[in-house]
Amino acid sequence: MDDIIAIDGPAGSGKSTVAKLIAKKLSYSYIDTGAMYRALTFKAIRESIDLEDEDALVKLAKRTTIDIVSDKDGNLKVLLDSEDVTGLIRTPELTAKVFYAARTPGVRVEMVKIQRAIGARGKCVFEGRDITTVVFPESKYKFYLDADVKERAKRRHLELAVSGKKVSYEDTEKDVIERDNKDKTRKTAPLRRAEDAVYIDTTNMAINEVVDKIISRVKIILPGL
Ligand code: C5P
Repeated sequence: MDDIIAIDGPAGSGKSTVAKLIAKKLSYSYIDTGAMYRALTFKAIRESIDLEDEDALVKLAKRTTIDIVSDKDGNLKVLLDSEDVTGLIRTPELTAKVFYAARTPGVRVEMVKIQRAIGARGKCVFEGRDITTVVFPESKYKFYLDADVKERAKRRHLELAVSGKKVSYEDTEKDVIERDNKDKTRKTAPLRRAEDAVYIDTTNMAINEVVDKIISRVKIILPGL
């Protein structure tokens, strides 16, 4: 586990942006595990599967191939059964439905299997909700990113606006709070800070400060970098 950097945190904590930049700086692959739950949900909706039906979701996960590949600039492609679905899985409508797959234990088992197989390729920056606690708890580099909820909602709102999605700030904040609650209170692999993860409050930090802080911690353990 010398070449796996594990980052968890709630929506809007900055972990995707930070993970992507770290991967670029270290020439590691950036692995966005949220995209995997999103891709599976996308397929379930496309196949009109009842999202409340856990058995159907697990069966779907077992017959689905999901891969994340990133180029040297850290731009990632999400491949669902070899189809590039990168541009299709970030709508607010889909985001609101991902919790069904995320709360289903059998789905998580399948996702973790895929994530560990990707990790076995080496040199990866993983980000998600259970990376430091379930997927790679033995990683030497574990970080928990957090930020004030208003700041996280502001970031998320900006992100949606930039991608052309019109949602009010109030609705965005409501969504962020609801998603936090769901992610933190589900029975299987809830979002929580691993005791030995480095906690970083990014509320008043610039992205580059967060990146530098993480890289300097990694370098302490891996001075050759
Ligand atoms: O990170 P992102 O916002 O794309 O994640 C979407 C959803 O996927 C999260 O709200 C969470 O419910 C789920 N997820 C998860 N475990 C992960 C990554 C994401 O349950 N490792």
